[in-house]
Amino acid sequence: MGQTLTGLMAVEIAEKLGVKPFQGKQIFKWLHLKMVRDFDAMTDLSKALRETLKENYEVRQLALVEMEQSERTGTKKALLRLADGETVECVLIRGADRITLCLSSQVGCALKCTFCATGLAGFTRDLTPDEIVEQALFLLEDEDMEGRTPNIVYMGMGEPLRNTENVIKSIKLLMDKNGLGIGARKISVSTAGELKGIRLFAQEDWQVRLSISLHAANDDLRSKLVPLNRKYSLEQLKETLLAYQADSGRQITFEWTLLDGVNDSKRDFDELMEYRKGLKASVNLIPWNPVADLPYGTSRPDKCEAFRDRLLEAGVQATLRVEKGRDIDAACGQLRRTHAAVK
Ligand code: SAH
Repeated sequence: MGQTLTGLMAVEIAEKLGVKPFQGKQIFKWLHLKMVRDFDAMTDLSKALRETLKENYEVRQLALVEMEQSERTGTKKALLRLADGETVECVLIRGADRITLCLSSQVGCALKCTFCATGLAGFTRDLTPDEIVEQALFLLEDEDMEGRTPNIVYMGMGEPLRNTENVIKSIKLLMDKNGLGIGARKISVSTAGELKGIRLFAQEDWQVRLSISLHAANDDLRSKLVPLNRKYSLEQLKETLLAYQADSGRQITFEWTLLDGVNDSKRDFDELMEYRKGLKASVNLIPWNPVADLPYGTSRPDKCEAFRDRLLEAGVQATLRVEKGRDIDAACGQLRRTHAAVK
C-alpha cells in the first residue's frame, strides 16, 4: 500500500509535493473537510497533479474489518486494519444530544491496567497521526453523523501520553480550520498518569481537555489497578497536576471505573475527596464493562448512583456514564480481542 497525506498539515503537503501553498490547502480540504475517497474527485486540481497523486499515494489507508452495532443504544464499534496488517478499534457513541468519537492512540497498550482488555494482548506500536485522524474520518462518514460536529475522546486502545507527539499532531489536524475545525473544548485526552506526557501536553496553548484515569486514591490499591502507579506515585501525579493547573488554568476530569467491592465504597469516596483537595477536578464515573477472564465485577447500579450522589452533595461536578456498549464488547480492546480469538 502507498503512503497517505492525511497526517500532514496543508503547508507540509505543499512542501512534500513541491506544489504551491494554496494547492496544499486544496488537497487538505478535500481530504479532511470533504472527506473524498478518490483523487479524481479533487476537481479543482490540475489533471497532472491528480495523476501524480494517484501514482504515488493512497487517499486513505485504514480499511474496515468488522463493524458492530449495539441494538439498544446505537453505539457502533469499528475494527480497522492498518497498512501493515495490525488492527485498531474506534467507537461512535450516540448520546441524547451529542455524538462522541472514541479513538485509539496505540496498537495494544503497555500499561496493563488489571481491569482493561487492551493490556492483555500487550503493546505492539504507536499509531501515526494519519492513523489516528483516519479513525475519525472513517466514523464521520457514518450516516448517524447527520452533519453534526462530534466530541472526540482519546479513550480507545493505548496510552495517548506515551505517544504524545503523534497525538498532539493528530489533534492539530482535527482542529484545523481548513479541515474538520473541531473545537478544542470538544476534544479530550485520557491518560493513566504518564507525567512526562502531561508536561508536554501542558505546553500547548489550547483548551483541549485532560482526563486522568484515577480509579483509586490510595497507592496500594491504585498500584494494583494501574501498575503505572508503581512508577509515579499518587503524590507525584498530584504535584504534576497542580503545576498543570497553575500553568494552564484548565479544569481536569478524574475518571473512576467502578469495580464491585474494590473502589466503590464510602471510604474510596473519602480518599478521592482528600486527594482532590486543591485541584479543580470533575469526576466521571464509569461502571466497569465486563471483560472475560478478568477477576472483577460491575458495581451494582445503586452503589454507582450512591457514589455519584456523594460527590454531587459535596459540590463536585460528577457524571455517571450510562453504559452504552456492553452488548458489542465496547470496552477498550475487547473487539480486537474477540476478533483475534475467532480468527
Ligand atoms: N490509557 C488511557 C486511555 C484508556 S481508555 C487511560 O488510561 O486513561 C479510557 C478509560 O476507560 C480509562 O479510564 C480506562 O481505565 C477505562 N477502562 C478501561 N477498560 C475498562 C472497562 N473494561 N470498563 C470500564 N472502564 C474501562
